[in-house]
Amino acid sequence: MSECDFIKGCIFFNDKMETKSNLASMYKRKYCQDNYGNCARYMVATTVGREKVPSDMFPNMRDKAEEIISENN
Ligand code: SF4
Repeated sequence: MSECDFIKGCIFFNDKMETKSNLASMYKRKYCQDNYGNCARYMVATTVGREKVPSDMFPNMRDKAEEIISENN
């Protein structure tokens, strides 16, 4: 895969969330710059809307994403 379309405006990618920098770098490589389809933020944004993405949601929070998606569908 390639880069996520949301990189420019994403608060996670642009370091606006509290996180350990080495973990954030790993997630950026794993999700934002590779397999963004599995990112929790991306999943919520593309199914129920970007406004439904919690500000504290990290890319690996897939279970939470599925919960939000089922609540809003
Ligand atoms: S993959 Fe997720 S965290 Fe990364 S830029 Fe896209 S929406 Fe943001």
